[in-house]
Amino acid sequence: MLKYLLLTLVVSFSAHGTLSFKWLGTTTFALSDGKTTLLFDPSLTYVSVLDFLPWRTIQTDPREVDYWFNRCGINKVDAVFVNHAHYDHVIDAPYVVKRYGGKLFGSSSTANVGLGGGLKNDQVETVKPGKEVRLGEFSIEFFNTPHSPHFWDVMLADGHITAPLIPPVNVMDYRVGDTFSFLIKHPKGAILYQAIGRVDTPDTLKEAKADVLLLTLANRRSTEELIDGRVLRTGAKKVIPLHHDNFLLPKPRDGTIKVLWGQKLEEFETTMKARAPGVGLIWPKYCAKEVIAQ
Ligand SMILES: [Zn+2]
Repeated sequence: MLKYLLLTLVVSFSAHGTLSFKWLGTTTFALSDGKTTLLFDPSLTYVSVLDFLPWRTIQTDPREVDYWFNRCGINKVDAVFVNHAHYDHVIDAPYVVKRYGGKLFGSSSTANVGLGGGLKNDQVETVKPGKEVRLGEFSIEFFNTPHSPHFWDVMLADGHITAPLIPPVNVMDYRVGDTFSFLIKHPKGAILYQAIGRVDTPDTLKEAKADVLLLTLANRRSTEELIDGRVLRTGAKKVIPLHHDNFLLPKPRDGTIKVLWGQKLEEFETTMKARAPGVGLIWPKYCAKEVIAQ
């Protein structure tokens, strides 16, 4: 009888898994509650600065994707979400859906990357701002947050992908399309993935509240703007920065994080301590499991 009771306890405890986050570099990350795994912005393929030359082409590198998925212990995916269709957020999305499962959600440009990469119509869903997707105990809401210019008012690979994009293609063929941020709700907690480094006016996420904020640092307009407009406004207890590692260099396999040029991480950390002293700042490590909620 005691054995039976203990077994029941163990089974019911393990059924209530923790809500966890794993980072795979740039803005590629997985969220899982032990039953459902969501994968965002799959981009593991190494693309060098030389690949930006107009005559060069790029395509997904399955070995690199499999290496990092295997290292992070991800063997099944229930859905793939893409915030915008630049290559450093979407290049591996078709391969991930084909190899690890799930369905691809994103803009019409992202859908065209999926279709060009060999996904079938029922493996791709085009979404609009305000859309909410439910998967297991997760709900994922899409917000319109336009991409920032790369320098001055110039944005590289601007516009939309209007037909299936069949690789190999040039970096600039991955046109930005619509850009989303995501509010991810789960009975254990809410997570906001802020996919761009600025707070717009009007701010579509003004009312969004979250326990954890996944915050894009790359291309940020001002640290103060992100902290006041996003960290403090959401009421987040934890902030996990993203997109601060150097995706233009090969990802080191020894766990070192090479910082993207011009990211000023110390300035970000110092400003966080001054303006949001009660908020935990967690610098992610590749494949390390971060428990967001028990
Ligand atoms: Zn981009």
